[in-house]
Amino acid sequence: MSDQVEKVVIIGSGPAGWTAAIYAARANLDPLVFEGAVTPENQQKGTLPLGQLALTTEVENYPSWPFADTEALVGLLRSALPPERFANVEHLSTSGPERRSIFGPELMELMRQQAMNFGARVITDDVVRVDFRVHPFRLWSLGGKEVQALSVIVATGARANYLGLESEERFKNRGVSACAVCDGALPRFRNQPLVVVGGGDSAMEEASYLTKFASKVYIVHRRDKFRASKIMQQRVLENPKIEVKWNRVVEEVLGNDEQGVTGVRLRSTVDDTREELQVAGMFLAIGHTPNTAFLEGQLELTDKGYIRWTQPFRTCTSVEGVFAAGDVADDYYRQAVTAAGTGCMAALDAERWLAAKGLL
Ligand SMILES: Cc1cc2nc3c(=O)[nH]c(=O)nc-3n(C[C@H](O)[C@H](O)[C@H](O)COP(=O)(O)OP(=O)(O)OC[C@H]3O[C@@H](n4cnc5c(N)ncnc54)[C@H](O)[C@@H]3O)c2cc1C
Repeated sequence: MSDQVEKVVIIGSGPAGWTAAIYAARANLDPLVFEGAVTPENQQKGTLPLGQLALTTEVENYPSWPFADTEALVGLLRSALPPERFANVEHLSTSGPERRSIFGPELMELMRQQAMNFGARVITDDVVRVDFRVHPFRLWSLGGKEVQALSVIVATGARANYLGLESEERFKNRGVSACAVCDGALPRFRNQPLVVVGGGDSAMEEASYLTKFASKVYIVHRRDKFRASKIMQQRVLENPKIEVKWNRVVEEVLGNDEQGVTGVRLRSTVDDTREELQVAGMFLAIGHTPNTAFLEGQLELTDKGYIRWTQPFRTCTSVEGVFAAGDVADDYYRQAVTAAGTGCMAALDAERWLAAKGLL
């Protein structure tokens, strides 16, 4: 273990982590960011460095990134990133439309670079263990590094749950999505029949939201009643554009390389019969898993497993000096811009806490 005690360590590399790093670096806190490890396990879970946005194509709702000339976007990326990082996103620009929104991986590379330009130091590794019972806090990485920190910002995000079908994996970003608010308005889904999988409040919300764009929305639910609150159910059941397929599961996503998703095959959970629905998209609403396992219960969590914010409008957690930002503490908004917003708050909260404790 090095004798150096970090002022702030940031764990995580989505919009929350990089925004926290930008603010902390500009406040002279010299932040150290653990951006996650590049391992087959993280690849499989969808938790590689750069977070969830690195898994998507166009990001149309992050403010200040309008539809732009592809050449101009590529030019900006080339000028903003060092060659080895530009190489990570160069392939995105080699085909596709002349005008488009920024792609998720591009946006994340820019955020990372912005943090590094202000002096954030980055370690490409997972934090696998922490000790928040001592101060300075102690953290251990997968590669065996041990660091001490006066304050910590946990921004490890969450991952969407998928059904685990091979065909679903094949059509991710080509009709399969886990976020209606993010993707529902994309041209590929407009005036098309769509399917939502799930039976809780988020399935109801996603289905209602999608009726703004879709010609029809099916909800596929494996039971004969929803888990969702009564009011949400009622809204869905009264919506003429929504049809519920009770007691059914998606057995396969159908499609081809040219069009992406063209349908789903359903299997009944009561009698093994099958049917096919022609749809242009499948939206999963079967929950998220927050990335909190490495905390081993040292921070208070909500009953859904998210880190509990312990004060209103602050990013404080149950341990003084440890702050949380982004989707790891927010199962409600789950947007890049809200994650970035709470990342900013966490850095300011950490700075003020360190100052109040006379630790700066
Ligand atoms: C397919 C898809 C499309 C989306 N599209 C949009 C969109 O268009 N607009 C929008 O606003 N939102 C969109 N979202 C949601 C958005 O991506 C999230 O709300 C946002 O990324 C959350 O940011 P975050 O910083 O909290 O964490 P995340 O983006 O979840 O990133 C956290 C990262 O931290 C790292 N990490 C995790 N554990 C550890 C650890 N132990 N040690 C070190 N590092 C760790 C991992 O690399 C992980 O990926 C989309 C999500 C998905 C899945």
